[in-house]
Amino acid sequence: CAKKHGRNCSYHFQPHLAETLYRKNALRHHLSQALEIKDFELYYQPIIDLNTMLLKGFEALIRWYDDSLGHVSPAEFIPLAEETGQIVPIGSWVLRNACKQLEKWNQQYDTKLIMSINLSRAQLKMSLLDELKAIIEEYNIDPAQVALEITESAMLQEFSEAMPCLDAIAALGFELYLDDFGTGYSSLSQLQNLPISTVKLDQSFVQNEHDSGKAIVEATKAICNKLNLKVVAEGVETKEQLEYIQSCNFNYCQGYYFNKPLSVSELEKGILSTLLTKE
Ligand code: C2E
Ligand code: MG
Ligand code: MG
Ligand code: MG
Repeated sequence: CAKKHGRNCSYHFQPHLAETLYRKNALRHHLSQALEIKDFELYYQPIIDLNTMLLKGFEALIRWYDDSLGHVSPAEFIPLAEETGQIVPIGSWVLRNACKQLEKWNQQYDTKLIMSINLSRAQLKMSLLDELKAIIEEYNIDPAQVALEITESAMLQEFSEAMPCLDAIAALGFELYLDDFGTGYSSLSQLQNLPISTVKLDQSFVQNEHDSGKAIVEATKAICNKLNLKVVAEGVETKEQLEYIQSCNFNYCQGYYFNKPLSVSELEKGILSTLLTKE
């Protein structure tokens, strides 16, 4: 630290640092029990097809409520679980439960929605293939109904090891989406090298009404068109943002303007059937 930061480096005790460490340790500790005591829940955020304005499917998003910590955001605990390796069993739980829910909705609503599920880099091992095969067999799911989301930054490290795994996942018939596009310092060549069908443009660009944000929205759509990739706009919050991404011919969109991530009971109270039929 001293070398890197030169004379700006402080050796004084920093209370906020201690608090952060304390919080991290507490989270780590509680996280290790959360799977056993079933403290996780999946919420589902609708993804809208901009061609029909009907429901295309959902993104499954994990929620964690701990008795002493309260609600902890995945933006806080997922990176931590990635550090500790706990993401692997948590990720397996997410895959299994999201697919189980998909099968239920397939039966209940006589429809074929797409379920998007986030994957972390640590899950991209060959053993994931057996897991995926077992899940589609157990729940009798068509893999074309499941989209696995990976981020650009997940593909940065040990790229060569993850590639055969991604190719095998795609060969099984699953769709692969590139998540948070534009934020991961990746090279554009990933768009052509990864076996993806769809790009999710990060919400920071969708919500930026300045020319710089618009330049990236429009350039992303143009390059994806040429490469035959579909594009989802993430984080659409206002009517103006929706109209803009419609004018750019985006394929799908997701955001608070339509719905926040919802619990199964909230969805089944009527929102789901409305989304499937509204004009
Ligand atoms: P993500 O995969 O990019 O998911 C989209 C995030 O944007 C979600 O946050 C969602 O609630 C939020 N969002 C959606 N629409 C809007 C909007 O209009 N405005 C704003 N401000 N936000 C919007 P969430 O649920 O807090 O998740 C944060 C991140 O945590 C996810 O980003 C993903 O990277 C990670 N995550 C969540 N669930 C899982 C999981 O099951 N597995 C893994 N590996 N990561 C997960
Ligand atoms: Mg959150
Ligand atoms: Mg995602
Ligand atoms: Mg995203």
